[in-house]
Amino acid sequence: MPPIAKHLKTSSERTGNEYIELHEWLDKDPEKKAERHDITKIYEHGKMIEEKYGKEGLQEYIQHIHDDVKAKFEHIQHDMEKAVADTLAYLGVK
Ligand SMILES: [Zn+2]
Repeated sequence: MPPIAKHLKTSSERTGNEYIELHEWLDKDPEKKAERHDITKIYEHGKMIEEKYGKEGLQEYIQHIHDDVKAKFEHIQHDMEKAVADTLAYLGVK
């Protein structure tokens, strides 16, 4: 998943605001990180975030989770492509 610095940069490019407190809330505490990224809690967390940061902050929260999911699947895809290529090479398939 993208490091906090990457989230700050993309938020800043989108909105002119890094939303550092929001991204740190999502990523910084390893014990709460999974719960704060739980998509079944988007409504509950989203209400709290919108009250604190407004609609733009709410959108940045959702975008953060979107960007993490996208990066995770790109990583899985990369690992899978490598495993397939390694297996084909092992079997002598070209
Ligand atoms: Zn994250």
